[in-house]
Formats: sequence, C-alpha cells, structure tokens
Amino acid sequence: MVGARRWIWMGLGGLLVVLLGLGLGSAEASGPLQPMVTVTGLPPMHDTATTALQPLKAMPPGPTDFAAPALTLAQAAPPRQVTALADPSNYGDRYLTDINGRPLQNDFIAVLHETVGSAQSALNLFRTHHPRDQDQVSYHSLIGRDGTIYYIVPPEKRAFGAGNSVFNGTNGLETARTNPAFPPSVNNFAYHVSLETPGDGFNNRRSHSGYTQAQYNSLAWLLAQTTIPDNRITTHQSVDRSGSRMDPRSFNSQTFFTQLRRYPTRSGLSG
Ligand SMILES: [Zn+2]
Repeated sequence: MVGARRWIWMGLGGLLVVLLGLGLGSAEASGPLQPMVTVTGLPPMHDTATTALQPLKAMPPGPTDFAAPALTLAQAAPPRQVTALADPSNYGDRYLTDINGRPLQNDFIAVLHETVGSAQSALNLFRTHHPRDQDQVSYHSLIGRDGTIYYIVPPEKRAFGAGNSVFNGTNGLETARTNPAFPPSVNNFAYHVSLETPGDGFNNRRSHSGYTQAQYNSLAWLLAQTTIPDNRITTHQSVDRSGSRMDPRSFNSQTFFTQLRRYPTRSGLSG
C-alpha cells in the first residue's frame, strides 16, 4: 500500500534554495498558559548509561526484490541510542491552551528535518545557552549517519524546530499560537526529528546524496514507537509558511515507509 499513504510531500525541484535545517525557534515565554505535564504516544528518552554502550548495529542494505519480514519492536535490534540533552533555554513547555485560552487538542505530528551540518555541530548548538528567544533551536531527536539516535529534548517538552508553520492534514489547517511575540507554529504538537546531512549537503543546493539505510532504519524504529499515524508524518518543508525551508532534502519517502511497514503494529494507525 505504498501509494495509499497521504504523505504530505512536496517536490524539491523548482523551489528556491534558501536556508535549511534548524528552524528559527518559536520560543516560549513562561506565562499563565497551562503546560502539559505528561505525554503519551511519543518515543521515550533512553538512559545513556545503559544504552550508549551498545555496539553499533550497522545493517547492510536489504534485498529489494522481495518484502522484508515483519518485525515487532521487541524483535528489532534497537539502534545505538544516546541521550544528549539540550540546554533548557532551547526548549519549553507544550501548552494545553493557546494565548486566547482556547484548548489545544491537536494530535501529535512528526516533522522531519536535516541538520545541514554534522550531527556533532548540531548537538553542540543545542547545548549552547541561548538567552535570546530568537536564537533558541532544538529537535526532539537526531539520527546520525551511522543510525545512532540522539535524544535531545524530552518528548513531553516543546522543541523549537519550526518557525511560522502550519500542518495541512485531514483535519484541515492546524497550528497553534502560544506566544504573542511569535507567529503560530506546529511546535506545540510536533515531534521534531532531524537526519544528519551527508557531507556533500553542507550547502544550500537543492539536493545531496541522501541518507543512509541505517538512518531510515532508525527513523522507522523510532516512529514505530509512536501513535502518530502515517498521514501525520510530515516535513519541515511541508509545514513551513516562511517559504524558506526545504528540508529534509533528498529524503526517500518510499525507503522510509518500506521500513516503517515492517512494524505491523503500525498498520492499525494508518488512516
Ligand atoms: Zn528543519
């Protein structure tokens, strides 16, 4: 059912090449808004001490002429996982109400990004204290070229992965304004995941050599743990309203969904 997904996807061709990668943060001032305390349906963070020592599971490319066997999460070899928490200035609370006191009840979406630079440079940026709201950036997680998953922002917290943005899905336009100083964005209900860009993509060209099979495998493994349906997995480019974002470039959605389909628990989520 590869063709049946409602993947919100735009072609890269023809778009102007502009800034990529880390979105300007829609940072939040702490105010009277009611924060979300717990969250369900998003991947948990993993304990560094026990997981960082796992050997790397570099998976060779699979055969392409027959279907890969189904996996359960318990059967799948977990990727290498590292907790690399961002400085708290770079993330905030998810809120239950917007600036006008209206309840925010959006289901979660997953927003895919790319780092443009190396994973290490992105992690260093997130660890840097950013007192100015406009400098604050983060993702919930980042997937390195070797498939390592870095957990950066706790899932119950709001990462500042997108600026002015809206998700256009089956429920219509979804966005939320929780800070009067910033335009509405998807951050309040987004789980932001970024892919480390290959070396030939550390530039503003429209495409590059793409992501490793290990990255697709880890991304599928990560999102298989969520309750986010396929049609709420989207990209920064798709939700961006500034016209300046086109990441993740050269993302192969078929490769990704082929991996995601290997987790049969996902099938019930397809809308
Ligand atoms: Zn992005």
